[in-house]
Amino acid sequence: MSDKSKFDSIMYITDRPDIVMTGGRGMRLVDDSGREYLDFIQGWAVNCLGHCPELVINALEKQARKLINPSPAYYNAPMVELADLICQNSCFDKVFFANSGAEANEGAIKLARKWGALNRNGAYEIISMDNSFHGRTLATMSLSGKATFQDMYEPKVPGFVKVPFADMQAVKNAAGDKTVAVMLEPVQGEAGVYPADEKFMAELADFCRQNGILLIVDEVQTGYGRTGKLFAYQNYGITPDIMTLGKGMGAGVPLAALVATEKVACFAAGEQGGTYNGNPLMCAVGCAVIKEVSSEAFLTRVNQASDYLREGLEKLSEKYALGCVRGKGLLLALDLNRSIGAQVIKAAMSQGLLLNSPQPDTLRFMPALNVENADIDQMIDVLDGVLEQIK
Ligand SMILES: *Cc1c(COP(=O)(O)O)cnc(C)c1O
Repeated sequence: MSDKSKFDSIMYITDRPDIVMTGGRGMRLVDDSGREYLDFIQGWAVNCLGHCPELVINALEKQARKLINPSPAYYNAPMVELADLICQNSCFDKVFFANSGAEANEGAIKLARKWGALNRNGAYEIISMDNSFHGRTLATMSLSGKATFQDMYEPKVPGFVKVPFADMQAVKNAAGDKTVAVMLEPVQGEAGVYPADEKFMAELADFCRQNGILLIVDEVQTGYGRTGKLFAYQNYGITPDIMTLGKGMGAGVPLAALVATEKVACFAAGEQGGTYNGNPLMCAVGCAVIKEVSSEAFLTRVNQASDYLREGLEKLSEKYALGCVRGKGLLLALDLNRSIGAQVIKAAMSQGLLLNSPQPDTLRFMPALNVENADIDQMIDVLDGVLEQIK
């Protein structure tokens, strides 16, 4: 815990280094001593265009001069445009905007329960995956399969059944009359970057369809080009019923969404809302971001950068006898084979490189989607030195 009086008014929730971040540009973050860091965390896969991209600054500035808050009781132009753009680029028809991934997932739980009340005799149970992460509200913590959440803040919200990740038989065994939905991350992020395999996803989609069970994909981390497609479900050739978005969607500003097909979008007046839902300032950013990241050229470049990063990591893995490189697009992990993650990220930071270790034996790489090969080279170089030192 920080004992520096300078930070005493900040409520303790986690250990942070005794520095203040003051600036950022692209792949670089700068602290109050003027020190520059090469940032492969990017706000936890949030800054899909890096720090302070012109496109976001311009959208904020332009919209702020026009209209900041008309009230959620009225439509506004960026809200309407962004909803259209999301629907045009996906298999979905309806969008509800929120402010965080957890809030979008809360909305998904409520929408599934409402749909179950109307169409499935009050079925309300949602099957979710072990080690999944869906947010930090009480219901989304109850939904999450993260081990450390299981005994926290009891009693939990009931109605969630956990099964091992990507295990079709386990889903079948858990499903029953009360089951309204199965919810998962197409690539589990916080768990350590584990992609669901294609066979499982195809079987799951079939099973859900045949049994009148909704398929919900949490794409808060995997959406917006992160996996090399605009949305990760598009890697699998499936059409889910509900999708949630966040993180990369706002490229650094708080913007999230609950997205559904026409037949599932069944909220009646008064059942869902939120003061800032669809606020024009964030939606204006959202419009600029989706136009940028949905282009063929942009996604091609994400896949090239992914191959390049993967190659670099595989070389390190070979050199230091580490484990596999896994993931999709620019959400990649390097298995360290032993619990040296915390040590590695500490040593990397002291050398000006910001890395994340979601599990004690795993490093996760979430660069900006427009990362350049030179930045990848530099990261691999620093990590090479760190591994040399720690092995
Ligand atoms: C980060 C994350 C969330 C929670 O999003 P917040 O904006 O922090 O509430 C939910 N699901 C997944 C898969 C995430 O990675």
